[in-house]
Amino acid sequence: MSNKTGTLFVVATPIGNLADLSLRAVETLKGVDLIAAEDTRHSRPLLQHYGIDQPLQAYHEHNEGTMAERLIQRMEDGESIALISDAGTPLISDPGYSLVRRAREVGITVAPVPGASALIAALSVSGLPTDSFTFYGFMPRTSGKRRAVIAGFMERNETSIFYESSHRILAALEDVQAVFPPERKIVVARELTKLHETILSATVSEICELILDNPHGQKGEFVVLLEGAPSLKKNNRLTSEQKRILVVLLKSCSVKTASELAAEITGVKKKLLYQEALRLVG
Ligand code: SAM
Repeated sequence: MSNKTGTLFVVATPIGNLADLSLRAVETLKGVDLIAAEDTRHSRPLLQHYGIDQPLQAYHEHNEGTMAERLIQRMEDGESIALISDAGTPLISDPGYSLVRRAREVGITVAPVPGASALIAALSVSGLPTDSFTFYGFMPRTSGKRRAVIAGFMERNETSIFYESSHRILAALEDVQAVFPPERKIVVARELTKLHETILSATVSEICELILDNPHGQKGEFVVLLEGAPSLKKNNRLTSEQKRILVVLLKSCSVKTASELAAEITGVKKKLLYQEALRLVG
């Protein structure tokens, strides 16, 4: 038995395009004693493509607990292990958390080999603010719970991001439409780095129609990005569209009701709209 423990490498793999595996990822995968893969059948073609024939061990959500302990033991005995998932960065809406946490607890070195992740790829091309963002992972499966999560995004100033599968993309976007201010920007990034890569930018009110217009619009893998609420501190002036909505509402409503309705439509804080409404009628 070696008295030196092995290293756990957390290795990102491509999210579609095989060429997105880094040189260092290839070197690392070739150099370890074992590759722990979410689905060994899924990863084999990628590994074969790069001439990597290290032994594979399945490590997925159903055997995470027991397998983590076995892998820890092997690293304590001196073996190095690479963790990969089906696509992108392990642990990002993928298995691996138990293994990484346990490895760090027992003092095993955990080293990242960074690369693709769908959320960062989508954010980088979205045209939405990137300085601060919330990543939610996968949305709940039922509409009621999804709407509650989306409502939580509404007041936040930063960009909100979630993952969605082809089965639920339309239902999730319909829930966004039901809850979010209609003029807020939304970006739907589909099949990134693959043949049918599509990045749709629209307002919340337009998005479902755009998806339905494309016969393949609901197929594939999706990242959804929602524009944050205008920040009062940074931007306490209303846009011309927000003012126009307020002016229209003031034609038939009181200052209080008009500002409440305008806040619901635009996502802008009621107080700011109320002050503007008073100025307009004053
Ligand atoms: N670990 C991965 C990562 O770093 O992005 C995410 C794994 S998660 C199980 C799979 C989800 O990621 C998909 O349902 C989709 O929402 C998103 N995703 C993965 N690949 C994608 C791609 N090429 N284009 C758009 N979204 C993708």
